[in-house]
Amino acid sequence: MRRNPSPCRFCGRLPGPGQHRAPGPRGPICADCLEDGLLLVRDGRERISQGGTALTLAPAAQACEFCDRTERRTFFGRLRPLTRMGCTERGSVICAECLERGGDLLNRISRERTT
Ligand SMILES: [Zn+2]
Ligand SMILES: [Zn+2]
Repeated sequence: MRRNPSPCRFCGRLPGPGQHRAPGPRGPICADCLEDGLLLVRDGRERISQGGTALTLAPAAQACEFCDRTERRTFFGRLRPLTRMGCTERGSVICAECLERGGDLLNRISRERTT
């Protein structure tokens, strides 16, 4: 994997030296896109990724490619729509929960590296 890195699913960039990305079934998402995504699912505003692609809220029918869901189950067992970020240019979608999981993963990696 290290010899042949795949581009980030959202911005299309390859990793720089020492850069970590969160893996996904169709390809990874980079730290910059995770950060953009976490902001986007909170404020719902479109933004341009570091690679120049447009990041928007994903259409209701498009499932998260990392966990394959469009909804989440609440504590009380009700289904709620799961906010997702999409990139139409690259056909990629990620939900708020996978963004958080990816962010946690990268935080943990960078902490381990500095200690
Ligand atoms: Zn990216
Ligand atoms: Zn997901």
